[in-house]
Amino acid sequence: MLEVAHLGKRYPGADRMALHDVSFAVEQGQIVGLIGKNGAGKTTLLKILAKAQHPTRGTVRYNLQDLFARPGMLDDFGIMIVPVFYPHLSVVRNLEFYLDVHGKSACRRNIRPVLELVELWDSRDRKPAGFSFGMKQRMALAIALVADPKFMLLDEPFVGLDPDGILELVDVLARWARERGVTMIVSSHQLKELESLCDRYLYMENGTLADQFDGKQPEVTVIELRRSVDDPGSLRVRFPDALVPDAQGVHVEIASNSPMIGDVMAWLAEHCGIACVTVKPSRLDAYFGKG
Ligand code: ATP
Repeated sequence: MLEVAHLGKRYPGADRMALHDVSFAVEQGQIVGLIGKNGAGKTTLLKILAKAQHPTRGTVRYNLQDLFARPGMLDDFGIMIVPVFYPHLSVVRNLEFYLDVHGKSACRRNIRPVLELVELWDSRDRKPAGFSFGMKQRMALAIALVADPKFMLLDEPFVGLDPDGILELVDVLARWARERGVTMIVSSHQLKELESLCDRYLYMENGTLADQFDGKQPEVTVIELRRSVDDPGSLRVRFPDALVPDAQGVHVEIASNSPMIGDVMAWLAEHCGIACVTVKPSRLDAYFGKG
């Protein structure tokens, strides 16, 4: 659906590339978490995908067409990168104006359901100028959602929200994406929240895509043994959830949330002796120093 190839960006006057040789693909329906430390290049990447910045090098193709080849290539997109609403127009007028400017007046029927979803329907006649930060975030999200996007680009949508607000927003996004098969790239430092939302992660470091990995990788418990397993084949049959490397293997790995973990440890303690038990963090936690 989206293919990014060898993307590079150098801002005018900058002495180094903000993005360097970034390549990846996103399939329809995926929710991709964009992670990395401050200055890693996440916003720059999202701005290029939103055509708010031009790449210095490389290509972006959406449904096999060059994103920059012609206007109108963002018709399917819902974007929340910098606030685009007018603080002195009412909530409803903002959405109507956005839809009219983008030639999507037919989507006016979405205004009420979207405002109900982000819990701004009761404030529909108020002007965002007087809103709290969290309400402004929800206003920006309503604009990103109202035109029924197939592809969403969200830069730090949870920033500044209180814990309940974050949980609600994650729930709104997950429901919206599931019900409509929406594809999404969402950048955030709120890793726990991303974990419950994303199928996949792109990890950026110093402008490069340093890693990409599946989101469904559980924490693993590693059980170090005093001696090798005599009959690893029978252990594999007995506990198919456990990873028993080979006859010489002196450690066994099993997902920390496996219901079999107690039985595996008891069996190993009886037959091989346990030297040590450690927990290998998920890759998401490992990248942010919780491991
Ligand atoms: P954060 O997590 O802090 O939001 P980020 O991963 O989104 O960071 P970017 O904002 O993309 O990182 O910045 C990547 C690099 O590009 C940084 O070195 C930054 O200083 C530089 N940069 C970003 N915007 C500009 C700009 N308009 N002009 C010059 N340099 C810029």
